[in-house]
Amino acid sequence: MLYQLKPLFMGERDSLPIDCEMDFSGLEYQNAHPFQSPVRVKGEVTVSADIVTLRMTISTQIHGNCDRCLTAFVHSMEVPVERVLVASLNNEENDEYLLLNDYQLPLDELVEEELILNLPSKNLCRKDCRGLCPKCGKNLNEGLCGCRSDTIDPRLEVLRQLMN
Ligand SMILES: [Zn+2]
Ligand SMILES: [Zn+2]
Repeated sequence: MLYQLKPLFMGERDSLPIDCEMDFSGLEYQNAHPFQSPVRVKGEVTVSADIVTLRMTISTQIHGNCDRCLTAFVHSMEVPVERVLVASLNNEENDEYLLLNDYQLPLDELVEEELILNLPSKNLCRKDCRGLCPKCGKNLNEGLCGCRSDTIDPRLEVLRQLMN
C-alpha cells in the first residue's frame, strides 16, 4: 500500500488522514505467526512549516505460545509512531527521517518494520509465569503439583546423612 504524498510536499494539501486495516497473518517471525489479528493503523500525515510528519498508532494483538508454560496467549499491542518524512536528504544521517521514493509512503513496509521491532524479546503468557514442573509437566500457574516436597536436593541429602 503506497500513499502518494506529493500534494503535501507541493503545498497543495496540509494533511492526509491514514485509517486502514492491514493483514499480516502470513508474516512469519521465529517460526511463528504472531500477527493473526487484523492490524489497525490510524493517524495522519501533516505539514507544518514545510516539515512533513507522519504520526500514527498501530494496534493489533500478538498471538504466541509461552516459552515457559507453552500455553497459547493473545496480548494486545499498541505502537505509536512518529517520523519526519523527507523527499530528499542533504547528507544528513538521521534515523528519525524517512526518505521517500517519489513522494510515496510505503505504509505496509513501515508497519511491518514497527511490528517486528516492537515484539517482546520473550514470549511469556504473563510476566511472572511459573512455567511447567520439570518432573510431572504440570502447569504451575494452575496450582502446585505434589512433586516439589518429595524431591530432595542432593546437597540436602548429604547433610541429612551427616546428621544421621
Ligand atoms: Zn506461561
Ligand atoms: Zn510436578
